[in-house]
Amino acid sequence: MTQAQPTHTTHTAGRVRVLTGAKPTADLHVGNYFGAIKPAVEASLDPAKEMILMCADWHGLTDRAKILEPGKHTAGLLASYLAMGFSLEKNMIILQSEIPEIPEIAWYLSCVSAIGLLERAHAYKDALQSGKEPTAGLFNYPILMAADIVTFDAQIVPVGKDQLQHLEYASDMVKLFNNAVGRPVLFEPKALVQETQLLIGIDGERKMSKSYGNHIPLFAAKKDIEKRIKEVKTDSKGLDDPKDPETCAVWQILKSFGSKDAIDYMEDRLRKGTGYGYGHAKKDLMDEHERVFGSKRELYEHYLNSPREMAQLLAPSNSQARHIAATVRQRVRDALGLGIL
Ligand code: AMP
Repeated sequence: MTQAQPTHTTHTAGRVRVLTGAKPTADLHVGNYFGAIKPAVEASLDPAKEMILMCADWHGLTDRAKILEPGKHTAGLLASYLAMGFSLEKNMIILQSEIPEIPEIAWYLSCVSAIGLLERAHAYKDALQSGKEPTAGLFNYPILMAADIVTFDAQIVPVGKDQLQHLEYASDMVKLFNNAVGRPVLFEPKALVQETQLLIGIDGERKMSKSYGNHIPLFAAKKDIEKRIKEVKTDSKGLDDPKDPETCAVWQILKSFGSKDAIDYMEDRLRKGTGYGYGHAKKDLMDEHERVFGSKRELYEHYLNSPREMAQLLAPSNSQARHIAATVRQRVRDALGLGIL
């Protein structure tokens, strides 16, 4: 049941604040573009939404063996979103580790949350079951995620089904906190559960993922991308046989980023078959990859090589986000009677 929401929030009139997180843990591939980058870029162009895209580098630290990963991939993640056209005009791209209010608010949330709640979290249970030794960081991760959300008075948080539990936890923590202080102070977010389809990898079997080694990079050198596309697994139908696009990984991958014309063209040629083999389809996939991502790759590399320019571009986002976070922090401290000096 939703409780009363705080009356004074930091929301922008006429726009719904949407918070999306992205973890900087690997170089991006076409699956990331399809499932995460494209929807965020489109949402940033929607006048009814105010997007906060958070590069969640702290979240990437919870595995001790991979603690250096976020530092390696953060600039690439930020450069990718900028190169892909995320609009900063009325939205923000922020770096979690630049917002000290988040861990402070996480502490307050941890003081109203029962340990049992965290013990039931999927990520922690999975780590225990697979014999890993979870860090306290992994154990506390749902609290940090809830703090990300409430620190920005987020109204909507798009999540995959696997993250829904964490959103429910965030709502629970808001209720527990508001009940403990006796008034609505934190804003309770709503989850927007996304039924995103998973893009298939070049093995034609599993979802595209760097950990399966079946991915096509977004911004690698042209010859590396070409090599990956040549490896896309197909059946043994001959040049002139009619082929089913629905079971063809080349077409499935094209559908995730190609223009309507390119998608329709390949579909038609595959179905008819005559004179159009999988080699032709792979060549068309390569050309479309280059057409869609080639110019973005230049921009991406430009940003990567100009960290100052990127920092300047993101400075307004950072200061706006810091302002929101400071306002919410003050609201919370006032409710707790803290910070009297
Ligand atoms: P990961 O780094 O694998 O956790 O991926 C980050 C995000 O990219 C996910 O939360 C998805 O939104 C998206 N993503 C990754 N792989 C795929 C895929 N094969 N199909 C669709 N979306 C994906």
